[in-house]
Amino acid sequence: MKPETFRTYGHALVDWIAHYRERLPELSVWSHVSPGAIRAQLPLEPPEEPESFEAVLADLEQIILPGLSHWQHPRFFGYFPANAALASVLGDMVSTGLGQLGLNWQSSPALTELEEQMTEWMRRLLGLADGWRGVIQDTASTSTLVALICARERMTSHGATRGGLQAEELPLTVYCSGQSHSSVEKAALLAGFGRDNLRPIATDAAHALRPEVLVEAIQRDLAEGRRPCAVVATIGSTATTAVDPLEAMVAICREYGLWLHVDAAMAGSAMILPECRWMWQGVEQADSLVLNPHKWLGVAFDCSLYYVRDPQHLIQVMSTNPSYLQTSADGIVTNYRDWGLPLGRRFRALKLWFLLRLEGAAALRERLRRDLALAQWLAAQIDATEGWVRLNPVHLQTVCVRHEPPGLADDALDRHTLDWIGRLNASGVAYLTPAVLDGRWMARISIGAELTTQEDVAHLWQAMCAEVNGSQG
Ligand SMILES: *Cc1c(COP(=O)(O)O)cnc(C)c1O
Repeated sequence: MKPETFRTYGHALVDWIAHYRERLPELSVWSHVSPGAIRAQLPLEPPEEPESFEAVLADLEQIILPGLSHWQHPRFFGYFPANAALASVLGDMVSTGLGQLGLNWQSSPALTELEEQMTEWMRRLLGLADGWRGVIQDTASTSTLVALICARERMTSHGATRGGLQAEELPLTVYCSGQSHSSVEKAALLAGFGRDNLRPIATDAAHALRPEVLVEAIQRDLAEGRRPCAVVATIGSTATTAVDPLEAMVAICREYGLWLHVDAAMAGSAMILPECRWMWQGVEQADSLVLNPHKWLGVAFDCSLYYVRDPQHLIQVMSTNPSYLQTSADGIVTNYRDWGLPLGRRFRALKLWFLLRLEGAAALRERLRRDLALAQWLAAQIDATEGWVRLNPVHLQTVCVRHEPPGLADDALDRHTLDWIGRLNASGVAYLTPAVLDGRWMARISIGAELTTQEDVAHLWQAMCAEVNGSQG
């Protein structure tokens, strides 16, 4: 394709995306296609001859669009928000259009230096101390895997350069909240610790890790000849946005010499608000930290920030230095390939740069405060209405709730919960995610899509009440 053609099609495509965003409120939030329905409309064989742009655009509209669940919809309350603010979409377009690949600094000096500056801007916005150094990874799953590998290597004095974990005399153990994200378990398994050496720690009534249970687990492992290695604190858990007691965990990690990784994938964005920073009080004593600006903040997926206190250790663990990647600048520049798993890296800093410059930090703070207030409003409706039980303290933007009609319990209650949520989601009016908490199904309402307004949340609450009344009578 020639640049001239790209210009014409590109303008048409930007129009199409803008139109998509404009008509979101009229679309059904959740896709209702059945499995296989999209593939059935696609030809078996790839085209031998070029097709027209108009034909591709028509299929985008007629085949792809109906197969989408609309994460950017104002009444998307599922999972966690994944805002792709249009300002960041422009930055992402530039990234792809420039076709840059960061292998080392020399392969794209601007890619590296903008990433250094964006992680620095974010450090300042988040109110983190000077010593932190950041890198952009694809996801929190990757960041947490990197963290646990670094923990393992610090504890074994770089055992990977010898026999690896297979040569260690004592098994290394990892601790996390029983409410931590599945990516923590996955990282521990992939980093070679083994499920037998992963300790999910019991949580309290607010679903936060109980520090006295953590100490007991560490002491038991020591007594039984294992070697405690790392603790993962969750600030903003996936089910209920529970906040682990970070200061107490810092003290425990200090006492036993353990690596402390903070998973604030969702809640981290809230730390641009000074009034939210109590949630990660103690974070300055952690070894590593992950947060996802691709969730609530508005950077188009994917953009996960990974911060460390000791970049030299990270580089030592992650670096390989083949001759074809060596350059004369190596001693004085950052080579981000040594800060994570992949060699080739996308120019992700552009979408953060575009978002921060075109919207400004003040507008981002205002939007997050709007969402915090909307969550408080919804919590207040729930608390004031008979039959509804709120299941989490709402200090972020996620409200967990169950409708408990008199006389319903156990499996019958679960069926009732899944029924009304299923009907509400099928209606297409709004989407929310059912999840299991303490062995029982509940509804999880995660507010924070960029377009969500007070009316949308009110609409959702109305629909919830209508669905449960329908099922009772
Ligand atoms: C979303 C989330 C993750 C996983 O994020 P990915 O970037 O999709 O890997 C991990 N931890 C928490 C607390 C999360 O909310």
